Amino acid sequence: VAAMGTPERSVITTCAYCGVGCSFKAEMQGDELVRMTPWKHGKANRGHSCVKGRFAYGYANHTDRILNPMIRDTIDEPWREVSWEEALGFAAKRMRGLQEKYGKKSIGVITSSRCTNEETYLVQKLTRAVFHNNNTDTCARVCHSPTGYGLGQTYGTSAGTQDFDSVEHTDVAMIIGANPTDGHPVFASRLKKRLRAGAKLIVVDPRRIDMVKSAHISAQHHLPLRPGTNVAVVSALAHVIVTEKLYDEAFIRERCDWNEFQEYAEFISQDRHSPEQTESLTGVPSAELRAAARTYATGGNGAIYYGLGVTEHSQGSTTVMGIANLAMLTGNIGRRGVGVNPLRGQNNVQGSCDMGSFPHELPGYRHVKHPDVRAMFEEVWGVPIDPEPGLRIPNMLDAAVEGTFKGLYCQGEDILQSDPDTHHVAAGLAAMECVIVHDLFLNETANYAHVFLPGSSFLEKDGTFTNAERRINRVREVMKPKNGYADWEITQMLANAMGANWTYTHPSQIMDEIAATTPSFANVTYELLEERGSVQWPCNEEHPEGTPLMHVDGFVRGKGRFVVTEYIATDEKSGPRFPLLLTTGRILSQYNVGAQTRRTDNVIWHQEDVLEIHPHDAESRGVNEGDWIKLASRAGETTLRATLTDRVSPGVVYTTFHHPVTQANVITTDFSDWATNCPEYKVTAVQVSPSNGP
Ligand code: SF4
Repeated sequence: VAAMGTPERSVITTCAYCGVGCSFKAEMQGDELVRMTPWKHGKANRGHSCVKGRFAYGYANHTDRILNPMIRDTIDEPWREVSWEEALGFAAKRMRGLQEKYGKKSIGVITSSRCTNEETYLVQKLTRAVFHNNNTDTCARVCHSPTGYGLGQTYGTSAGTQDFDSVEHTDVAMIIGANPTDGHPVFASRLKKRLRAGAKLIVVDPRRIDMVKSAHISAQHHLPLRPGTNVAVVSALAHVIVTEKLYDEAFIRERCDWNEFQEYAEFISQDRHSPEQTESLTGVPSAELRAAARTYATGGNGAIYYGLGVTEHSQGSTTVMGIANLAMLTGNIGRRGVGVNPLRGQNNVQGSCDMGSFPHELPGYRHVKHPDVRAMFEEVWGVPIDPEPGLRIPNMLDAAVEGTFKGLYCQGEDILQSDPDTHHVAAGLAAMECVIVHDLFLNETANYAHVFLPGSSFLEKDGTFTNAERRINRVREVMKPKNGYADWEITQMLANAMGANWTYTHPSQIMDEIAATTPSFANVTYELLEERGSVQWPCNEEHPEGTPLMHVDGFVRGKGRFVVTEYIATDEKSGPRFPLLLTTGRILSQYNVGAQTRRTDNVIWHQEDVLEIHPHDAESRGVNEGDWIKLASRAGETTLRATLTDRVSPGVVYTTFHHPVTQANVITTDFSDWATNCPEYKVTAVQVSPSNGP
């Protein structure tokens, strides 16, 4: 818990945990941070915060932090502390050597949605302008890459359509595959307030999330679908809306492609999509599905909020497009209280994607194949840009195992813990000849690294994060970097060690370059952010005040596009050996793999992962409350304690993924979204059996 005392000065900055992007006053006594106070003028949080933003910043001072660069020739050797100059020289020589020996596409980069926009922009520039390839990817690959694809296809851009304030005008909130109470607590409070005021609630989730239990909700539907059947459920909702003629014909005729709508309507009207015919597949009672569809279509302003329970599936992109179809069908786009809103898990998932960290897109979601876009960046950067898309994270690991991908710069991301099929990730890393890990701590991935570059915490740097409502918030230096350099400086030093001549002296100059090259950021400057506090993109000549609501007069792509969304069952099936379906989620007090929250001096952060199992399934296996159990899948097994609950249906089990000992990703499969390779974390066939413990 923060020390109390009267602050001598304070600095306004932004929380580095979830995609709500709460603003805080960091209150200082001398060089010591004594308190984080939610800032009442913060437009995303209006003076509110959750426990993580307020208290879980102690990791920045944790003794586990590595403050000096380290190198080693092989991963079997102990680390040697060296100067920055020696570490960067070692890294640059190895990476250049690999390119000379194996080709310029033999190395690449993985960046993190925890980093600032400016850092991310520099990392993708390093890849394209210094490595001379497009092998850059981001941890958004494993969370919201289907949002990028799905909303790009249907609406023309990868972004939530609303601001958070919009929820105050919502009459029906549909939450699909998200648990805002734990994942996005400050937004959840606003949503609950609206529900208490009479808005209706539809929850589509295998698990009875807390929001379902919220008191004072006038009407609610919980559709407890079987994991992996999102597309079938969304199609059944659309079937009811189309066949009962509950759609908004005027909106569709004016704003969407009418021919595509007719094709879609013909498809979705088929009986095989009806709630009755899909009930046995989805596990959702048909009457509930029909009632929920009618509530969404006729209940006034309908807003959809969704999370990783939508995206982390083999049909993640298809479900996103199905959701986009639902909003267009009902005219729930382009005004307050409606829309399609991906709830971003990490602080800067939106910004990481905006900044061109995908291997096929330059900043501003422009494909690398477009000669005019490349020509513009080539002029600014002074180097040619490869027109071929680069490798995604899973492709990098596959290529490493095959022997063609040899070097990786991994910034702010612990892929050994956070990516699927841990054994395969380890094999890929072990096969590389140069792994550079740039992080606060010696994470699990660093076990396979040859160079360790100590990173700076969010308290030690200037920059910007972009939250789930496209709001660009300033991050400000509260204290000097303990390692000597902010992360953007380290990337610049690595680029220069490899022959570049970058001369940025402040992140504001990087933002100026982003604005000069990215139309949706054209008017964004640090001066504007000082003046306004924050601004939502697009912020340019057309939208000088920024853009709280998107697609008001027309979709970014022109006409909204209905996409036919065929349900295809995942290859991950339950059966006699693995009869239960495992799905995963978050708890409020932890954050992802726990690298920060577990290093905060507060006992609640040390909560362990547990398996939620229905009492019927527990009884038939001889499992009692609190027992150790073995959780096994085709990929591997782990051990954790069981808790018995009817929050999950029989046949479904659930766990969080925060604790490193549990290593939930040891048991997840390597199935992934057909369009983006986002891993199918949310469906794993498993068996549960009693165990004596780890
Ligand atoms: Fe930080 Fe999210 Fe909590 Fe706000 S809601 S304080 S952004 S973790």
